[in-house]
Amino acid sequence: MAKRDFYEVLGVAKGASADEIKKGYRTKAKELHPDRNADNPDAEAQFKEANEAYEVLKDAEKKAAYDRYGHAAFEGGMGGGPRGGHPGQGDFASAFSDVFDDLFGDFMGGGGQRGGGRRASRGADLRYNLRVTLEDAFSGMQKTINVPTSVSCEGCNGSGAEGGSEPTTCPTCSGMGKVRAQQGFFTVERTCPTCSGLGQIIQNPCKSCGGQGRVEKDRALSVNIPAGVETGTRIRLAGEGEAGMRGGPSGDLYIFIEVAPHKIFERDGVNLYCRVPVSMTNAALGGDIEVPTIDGGRSRVKIPSGSQSGRQMRLRGKGMPALRGGGSGDMVIELAVETPVKLTSRQKELLREFEELSEENNPESSSFFSSVKSFWDSMKG
Ligand SMILES: [Zn+2]
Ligand SMILES: [Zn+2]
Repeated sequence: MAKRDFYEVLGVAKGASADEIKKGYRTKAKELHPDRNADNPDAEAQFKEANEAYEVLKDAEKKAAYDRYGHAAFEGGMGGGPRGGHPGQGDFASAFSDVFDDLFGDFMGGGGQRGGGRRASRGADLRYNLRVTLEDAFSGMQKTINVPTSVSCEGCNGSGAEGGSEPTTCPTCSGMGKVRAQQGFFTVERTCPTCSGLGQIIQNPCKSCGGQGRVEKDRALSVNIPAGVETGTRIRLAGEGEAGMRGGPSGDLYIFIEVAPHKIFERDGVNLYCRVPVSMTNAALGGDIEVPTIDGGRSRVKIPSGSQSGRQMRLRGKGMPALRGGGSGDMVIELAVETPVKLTSRQKELLREFEELSEENNPESSSFFSSVKSFWDSMKG
């Protein structure tokens, strides 16, 4: 059977305003409500049809797409939304609850409560913490992770019912998930005890999943970790979370990255810092040193003569890649001049001789001690 025009389904003219659409939907929903149609077998299908139409027409973006392409707009994954979902399937419950307050208000003369009518429910989002090395964060990688999650039951295709039988509308609440009872002057509303609010019952529950429609299982997932991830980076895998209840859509899986500290490199955003000790003589005379780079290679760096501790040198582009493209950071080398220890007597002799020959070799010391001298002089004053 060809799909009916959404405007026709809601009984409004093409190009109707948002208000007219909402009004049309409410009228239809009341007309077709399960409570009023216990003996009309077509009411449920028409109710769903109205929901599907409303789900599209109430959303400005989806409505524009429908006006332009008709039903084809929602076939083949074009329909907006994170999974390009077909309207009126997983969204049924949410479309319904949108106007549910209003409807209940009307039926009960005001004061209705929210809820009920939920059949399928979306699975939970899952979080998975993944610790990676700095090297992995530098190069990016493919990683297989085992995610403990519940998946749609294969025995019943997620319906929860055994052997291809369909869940049926709960007779107690007519699919509303709520029942009302008279208590004195008041009508009170409760979650339906027969179906626990699901609105459907399963006569013959699936043996593999006990009617839940999903089973616990470890799943191996191959995850692409892009180069440049940092501690706190989140990777979203749409639809890889927990399976929905009774055919509802799956949740999402979020991978939270933690980059482990590194022995040699310290990271600050895209830049890497590396503290490199140099000998006193190397620092004084100048020379070459070899430093490691995060890609596993090495770079030769020239130490200018007279380098002090704390002197920084920058290796352009030798840092981490930016997560969303746009080149790499730098590697910054900081020199730490090391005073020699365990001197032999010959070395001591040479250093004493060197000291005797030193005059203006330590400008920082000279300037410091002259400041100290004038400080003491001023205190005497
Ligand atoms: Zn099952
Ligand atoms: Zn029920």
